[in-house]
Amino acid sequence: MKFKKTLAAASGLLALALITFTGGCAGPSKSLTPSEQASAVTQTYGTPEKPADQTVKAEPADNKQAPVIKPQLGPAPAQGKTPEDREKVVYLTFDDGPNSFFTGRVLDILAEKGVKATFMVVGNNVEKNPDLVKRMLAEGHGLANHTYSHDYNIVYRSPGAFTDDLDKNNKVLIPYTAEPVMVFRAPGGPQKLDQSYKERLRARGYISVGWNITSADSDPHGVTPEQEYNNIVRDLERVERLKKSPIVLMHDGTQLASIEARPGTPQAAYIQNRESTIKALPAVIDLFKSRGYRFAVVDEHTPPAW
Ligand SMILES: [Zn+2]
Repeated sequence: MKFKKTLAAASGLLALALITFTGGCAGPSKSLTPSEQASAVTQTYGTPEKPADQTVKAEPADNKQAPVIKPQLGPAPAQGKTPEDREKVVYLTFDDGPNSFFTGRVLDILAEKGVKATFMVVGNNVEKNPDLVKRMLAEGHGLANHTYSHDYNIVYRSPGAFTDDLDKNNKVLIPYTAEPVMVFRAPGGPQKLDQSYKERLRARGYISVGWNITSADSDPHGVTPEQEYNNIVRDLERVERLKKSPIVLMHDGTQLASIEARPGTPQAAYIQNRESTIKALPAVIDLFKSRGYRFAVVDEHTPPAW
């Protein structure tokens, strides 16, 4: 019964997205019916009454079961016909990796769809997954600095400790990138940086990049692919209204040593969220393609999120 409630909530979200963003015009696409959503979700996670397995596990690299989710937004804004109209650019970003269970699958989808993204990498994960970093760069994706430790107790001890941890990550990255990676994303987001941090970072030449769209795939209660997609649709409506370039926050990393966790634990939710991101990603890419966006890599010229 609990599962049905979850589904109802997911359907409600979908309905809300329709009402909010289409103004009654759903366009040519058809949304998933509740039973289609049910099927998509049960295939993967089972139900509390009938668990799919004793543990939550990463799945093999098979994205064919990805739920078919269609864009629900209203018509895309007109593409720039005059020089004053900014080109429509989207930045997909993946935080906390690289991760041996998930990052390769994200890269496979990006390659299949022919789009670029930016990986906000953590140094101690880079050390564990050198081949994934090489693959990111070989396939034309961007790298940004997400600190060496991603440990709040270390990076938020002081402004100096923060830049030291970014510098430490650069020591790990330079063999791959040849130059230090000065574009960074603060662990937990730029709102964690007070004035003293901002001044220190600016003085050291570091450039902060935030986000204005989130799939909310760090939700400790777990999110479904449909919820992630709807979260992105909801934020995109606001970003388009404010005429900002979408910078989308998702995650490919995990700090977990093991890929198995008991159902109901935060670790299981974390793994579920990574799986949900991978399942939602093809539809997320199609959403931005259908609205005329070019996929770009984050660099020092990326416009501020807000
Ligand atoms: Zn992070």
